[in-house]
Amino acid sequence: MKIERATTPSAKTAPVLGVEISLLAMEETLDFIDQRIAARSLGLIVTADATGLMIARRDPEFAEILRQAALVTPDSAGVVWALKRQGIVAQRVSGVDLVDRLCARSADHGYRIYFLGAAPGVAERAAERMRLRHPGCNIVGAQHGYFPSESDEIVAQQVAEAKPDILFVAMGMPRQEKFIHKIQGIVGAPIAMGVGGSFDVLSGRTRRAPVLIQKLHAEWLWRLLLNPKKFQKVRELPGFVRAVLKSQR
Ligand code: UDP
Repeated sequence: MKIERATTPSAKTAPVLGVEISLLAMEETLDFIDQRIAARSLGLIVTADATGLMIARRDPEFAEILRQAALVTPDSAGVVWALKRQGIVAQRVSGVDLVDRLCARSADHGYRIYFLGAAPGVAERAAERMRLRHPGCNIVGAQHGYFPSESDEIVAQQVAEAKPDILFVAMGMPRQEKFIHKIQGIVGAPIAMGVGGSFDVLSGRTRRAPVLIQKLHAEWLWRLLLNPKKFQKVRELPGFVRAVLKSQR
């Protein structure tokens, strides 16, 4: 099986800082994923925020992975804003929402899901909570994401044994996308997706921003207040805004 970029006619995109961002709304994204699983062709889905797009500007390997991805969804208010400046109204499609919605689909469609990443115990706890929230959700394996890159293939073999249709990898950007690019052929899951801090949120380890704060597009500020280590991410934002304004002049 080979890894393919989106070929479905419904995969509308628009560029932000040279990266083709999906304009599919959440339901369309889920339908797109259904089609890819039915076709059994391997594809990476990236949920991109402003930091991710800035990393791609200085990391050619990561930029190439984004070019080859089946779908790059707008995961943050910053990316949605950059699209809006081009007159395009896009819906945010975040990693944490996709994990939740695909776990619900797993219960309906029987998809086999694997959770890989986060600190020891967190992926298992997130899986437990998803099983309670979506009875029948078929999570076939969960393990932490703290292993050296020399062990990538060994971990991939372990994941492959569970025969997942969907592999969620929560190891932070760009490590998780580079890992998927390297091992998706071994695992054979048609859908593999980097989901950053999603297992921390779904396990209850970190709290998601209240809906009002999400609506005010200030989830980044909430995360920063809860975890000052996120300051590195926020430091990227002025550079992102400058780069977008310059590219769209
Ligand atoms: N993580 C991991 N392995 C590592 C480094 C990080 O599994 O070697 C996990 C970490 O525990 C956290 C996630 O990766 O659960 C990264 O979350 P973060 O919110 O920083 O990612 P982002 O969404 O910003 O890419």
